[in-house]
Amino acid sequence: MNKKHFAVAVDGPSGAGKSTIAKAVAARLDILYVDTGAIYRTIGCYVKEKGVDPCDSAAVIALLPEIHVDMHYAEDGLQHMYLNGRDVTTEIRRNEISRYASDVSAIPEVRTHLLEMQRQFARESCVIMDGRDIGTVVLPDAEVKVFLTAPLEERARRRFLELEQRGTPRPYEDVLREMEQRDYNDSHRAAAPLRQAEDAVLLDTGDLSFEESLEAILAIIRKKVEA
Ligand code: C5P
Repeated sequence: MNKKHFAVAVDGPSGAGKSTIAKAVAARLDILYVDTGAIYRTIGCYVKEKGVDPCDSAAVIALLPEIHVDMHYAEDGLQHMYLNGRDVTTEIRRNEISRYASDVSAIPEVRTHLLEMQRQFARESCVIMDGRDIGTVVLPDAEVKVFLTAPLEERARRRFLELEQRGTPRPYEDVLREMEQRDYNDSHRAAAPLRQAEDAVLLDTGDLSFEESLEAILAIIRKKVEA
């Protein structure tokens, strides 16, 4: 594929397969993958460590100046997250951090604080960036925008299997309920709610295998970038 500068914005609800697919696309096209959820998770991690209620906007905002978030790529291509110099890559995947990330991400000042960092990646490299507001707010001029989704039950089933494989199993019903709550929070918040950008292509992966989803998104990218 021709290597002009381009950005791919991938948005969608939790468990739609955004990160797995985006990572594979990045490897295929030799471009940078940026998982923006990991950035919100890192903030959530610090708020939890400080014993602050993630819904208490004033208290969370007061912590922002003391939070330094960094991102580096290991040789294996894994995106490592650093919180004030400490590698928190594994820690931020803990289940309770999901809720902290979701709560702090509803605070407009937190979003503004992280905006420039995300845009910088797209200026410096060809990227595929996934999140909730990439196509609508972070990179509104992205050459390619994809809204990746799947039915709630299927997304919960995938997350349930992922937690099991990671050795941290949770009852399916709990995973489903938490995912429903997170969907609600992400799409009903006032600041940059989850929604499909007008110029995004909708891709429902509910009935697609991983390979089929990957091929579908690569076809969307080729069509847009080569146009
Ligand atoms: O994608 P992931 O589940 O890791 O994201 C964690 C949380 O961070 C999401 O539930 C969402 O609330 C928030 N988030 C966001 N905007 C993004 C990426 C993630 O609000 N661009």
